[in-house]
Parts: sequence; C-alpha cells; structure tokens
Amino acid sequence: MEFEWYFRDHLFRSMNKGLSRLEISTIPKTLVDTYLRFRNANVDEISILLHSAIENLVQRNVITQDDTNIKLKGKLTRKQCGKCFYVCYVSENEPLSCFRCSNVELRDFPIKKTTKPGSKSEEDLGLGHSNKPN
Ligand SMILES: [Zn+2]
Repeated sequence: MEFEWYFRDHLFRSMNKGLSRLEISTIPKTLVDTYLRFRNANVDEISILLHSAIENLVQRNVITQDDTNIKLKGKLTRKQCGKCFYVCYVSENEPLSCFRCSNVELRDFPIKKTTKPGSKSEEDLGLGHSNKPN
C-alpha cells in the first residue's frame, strides 16, 4: 500500500507535467531516481511492486494498461482526510474516501487560500506574532 502511494504521487506529478501516458519499463528506474524512499531499493524489487500496483489501479479504474504503457483514465486530485489528515491521490473514477480510515470528508490539499484582494491578513496587522511569553 505504501508503494502505491508513491506510485500515485508519481502519476499525479506526471499528469501535472502533461504526461498522461507512461512507459511501464521506465517507471521503476524513475521511482528510484525520484524518491529518497526508494534510493537504496533494487529496481527488480520495484518492478514486482509496480506490477501489482498497476493491477490494482487498473481494477480501480484509475489507469488503463496496454502491452508497454499505462495511461491515466481520469484526473487525479490530491486530497486530505478531515479526520486523520492522511493525504492521498484520488481518481475521479474512484469513490471519494480516505484510504486509511475510510472517512468520506476529504478536502483539497493544500488548502486554497481565499484572502480577498486588498484586505489585510492577520499577519499584516501584527496579530500573527503574539506568542511572546509574558
Ligand atoms: Zn482518514
């Protein structure tokens, strides 16, 4: 499951670069090069994990697979669970619920700031720095 998180992270980042199709054979090396978590991992081990993750994501309607490529089937969004604060990448084709605790209240992550133009924020007014001990 942890591997799948990184794989989804990689899919999300690729999508944001305009890449919705990835060549399967290049993915293990890319993951090892990209994530510190896999820096000391063996590319063959990663391939095995990757193949089961691909199978799972195909079943969940997140990606499609042909002989050499995988392709995103729907848009991925980054969400944070309102209950356990777990951050996950959910496809628009999947039911929206936290992968860790199954809570259905997920919010966009990072939270978009909605400050009105021209209005002063608390920090500008000096209210954000009032933590000095008395
Ligand atoms: Zn949760």
